[in-house]
Amino acid sequence: TNKPSVNFIEAIIEEDLRNHKNNDRVHTRFPPEPNGFLHIGHAKSICLNFGLAQKYKGLCNLRFDDTNPAAEETKYVESIKKDVKWLGFDWDSREYFTSDYFGKLYGYAVELIEKGLAYVDDQTAEEISASRGTPTRPGQESPYRNRSVEENLDLFERMKKGEFAEGSKVLRAKIDMASPNMHMRDPALYRIKNTHHHRTGADWHIYPMYDFAHCLSDSIEEVTHSVCTLEFEVHRPLYDWILDKLEVAHPQQIEFARLNLSYTVMSKRKLLELVKENYVTDWDDPRMPTISGLRRRGYTPESIRNFSERIGVAKRNGIIDVSLLEFSIREDLNKKALRRMAVLDPIKVVITNYPEGQIEELEAVNNPEDPEAGKRNIPFSREIYIERDDFMENPPKKFFRLGLDREVRLKYAYIIKCEEVIKDEATGEILELRCTYDPQTKSGQDTSGKKVKGTIHWLSATHAKDVEIRLYDRLFEDEDPAGHKEKDFRDFINQDSLDVLSHAKVEPALTEVSAGESFQFERKGYFCVDPDTTKEKVVFNRTVTLRDNWAK
Ligand code: ATP
Ligand code: MG
Ligand code: MG
Repeated sequence: TNKPSVNFIEAIIEEDLRNHKNNDRVHTRFPPEPNGFLHIGHAKSICLNFGLAQKYKGLCNLRFDDTNPAAEETKYVESIKKDVKWLGFDWDSREYFTSDYFGKLYGYAVELIEKGLAYVDDQTAEEISASRGTPTRPGQESPYRNRSVEENLDLFERMKKGEFAEGSKVLRAKIDMASPNMHMRDPALYRIKNTHHHRTGADWHIYPMYDFAHCLSDSIEEVTHSVCTLEFEVHRPLYDWILDKLEVAHPQQIEFARLNLSYTVMSKRKLLELVKENYVTDWDDPRMPTISGLRRRGYTPESIRNFSERIGVAKRNGIIDVSLLEFSIREDLNKKALRRMAVLDPIKVVITNYPEGQIEELEAVNNPEDPEAGKRNIPFSREIYIERDDFMENPPKKFFRLGLDREVRLKYAYIIKCEEVIKDEATGEILELRCTYDPQTKSGQDTSGKKVKGTIHWLSATHAKDVEIRLYDRLFEDEDPAGHKEKDFRDFINQDSLDVLSHAKVEPALTEVSAGESFQFERKGYFCVDPDTTKEKVVFNRTVTLRDNWAK
């Protein structure tokens, strides 16, 4: 399990440390835009950026990249903070907002104008885009490109004051309309927008573009390594150009491949559509790949951090199999989760030779992986529930559970034999099983010498508690739902992604539980208590089955 000593980002950082670049500092940042809830891809970026800071005894900032007022909201800021904390990371007082730099950024734009490196363009968005050219054909220079510095300063100030209509002017960098890199063909730096901003309200009529704001925010915060995803590789020359021309602190942008997971979509815009169009209940629906959805599903912070570590950092985009994420939560809960018995689809069994009214307390192990978890008692009585699919009237040879005239062991209890099947005469549905038990076969003190191949779980009928159990399946039926040109990702929605079991039963030890607690239901998987739980009704979410049984 010795993984390669360092990944390529760590190699860059270690080289910089050897060369005493950045005064031996390592300073990263996680820069979410507060326009949605964080997803598992962001978790990767959080673990990476905060992890690098931890590893090299540096710092990591949390910066809200809020330059796009229309989509941003304070509720997203709050959810992002909650999720980063929950994942186990701390930014101390280093909580920043790009909007706090609006004044400084404006000043930098003025400086570029003064240097003759930016100009106000009166062309429409369509005209600008039409004159950009193609990667193989140079663009055309704007007729406004050679305005005087004075005129540009005056117009830019009036843009700021709100004198012009949205879309009527932009500030552009004066770089090179023939550059083979389209992002260098006089990119826009500022646009006019009269939208209300979630923090600065109506103060601003112009907002900086991502490429202008991001590098300068990194620089202002004296970040040393600005880690971002691969699609920004082509923006790096612009990142460098802006910082070079302004002669300010110059972080190094490093790109890695974004995380894509099979059977899901991973863009906030698409996730928002799933919420708005009611394909899911909300951002924290347990089927969502959001951090809040995974939390509600029963994922632990450790499992997500381990997953993130395990997938490593790549330089090429690919799709990670969601079963790897599931492996991480199984691995973690196997160590931590208390074992309990639950019957998801109950059928009643009457043990005819067991004395009526008698109750035995049987000892059960709480977690075989953790001796400290101890033991508990579970009641046994004449009437019990077993899982409907643990019985077959005429089972095939390989079926080692209960059948007519066959024996099976009840875990922690006795061997029982099915003697009679009671059916609904009209429908043929099995209503009840009549069994006998062998008193010599009590677990731990079996003197019968009997050997049976199957052991099943069960619950004492009078003691069992009713609960609701929610079973989840993949939200999409396609491995790469957003990867089809001719089809919309919504076309691949799995119509059966949620199955609500309202007659499930659990052992009495599970009635005093609180939201977020996780258990292993023996033979059934890992389940956690959903926040919909009330005093009257406990609701469990199935986090994951015990084994990968997604064969389809
Ligand atoms: P989305 O397209 O899902 O909305 P985004 O990149 O626009 O994502 P941001 O809020 O800008 O979302 O992202 C914050 C940080 O998280 C950025 O540094 C971004 O590169 C990183 N990030 C976003 N998605 C992923 C992903 N799938 N894998 C790894 N890092 C990601
Ligand atoms: Mg972004
Ligand atoms: Mg985005």
